[in-house]
Amino acid sequence: MSALEAYHKKRDFAVTSEPRGSRARRKGNSFVVQKHDATRLHYDFRLELDGVLKSWAVTRGPSLVPGDKRLAVHVEDHPLDYGSFEGIIPEGQYGAGAVLVWDRGTWEPEGDPRAGYAKGHLDFTLHGEKLKGKWHLVRMRARRGEKADNWLLIKANDAEARSAKDPDILEEQPNSVLTGRSLEEIAGDAHSRRWTSGKAAHAPTTNAESPRARALAPLTQPKA
Ligand code: MN
Repeated sequence: MSALEAYHKKRDFAVTSEPRGSRARRKGNSFVVQKHDATRLHYDFRLELDGVLKSWAVTRGPSLVPGDKRLAVHVEDHPLDYGSFEGIIPEGQYGAGAVLVWDRGTWEPEGDPRAGYAKGHLDFTLHGEKLKGKWHLVRMRARRGEKADNWLLIKANDAEARSAKDPDILEEQPNSVLTGRSLEEIAGDAHSRRWTSGKAAHAPTTNAESPRARALAPLTQPKA
């Protein structure tokens, strides 16, 4: 099974402008956090490992307060190209809604990241624009009959940590590190363009109407 099979199966690339992507050969250590206004607002936390972005959906977003354990639901690997995706996932598509690049930079694992990932315990340092210092990602023991692969994202106590009395970084710095835009601006953008052009601004115009692209599109379209 290819590294990105689950990612590809969930998406119709004739409709969404998310990148198709493939596993990269380069060795890198990027990380990205995408703020995603889907059915429920969440923050997608992604760490580059072996040519893909290992990914978790952090329901309440990261916290700089060391006592805060933020639920991070492990999701399918994403292609590296996804790290610069900002825009709209069209209605009817998996994860429909606006996405912005909330933070990005590099990560530095402590010890062997493959072993840590397999074991369900990663300790690492983030060098982002918003998130810095040491962090832990720890897999929770599954409850009986539970299918979700639930982890916790926790800030370690260091100079980059904040106390509960300090401002919440999610409120303090809500916008895109790429463009400075808010989710509302990204969503509004798509709407205004849709009205003027008469079709969805986010649909890739090169192949959206192509019968071949339609024929090649995956048949399965899980709901968001
Ligand atoms: Mn998401």
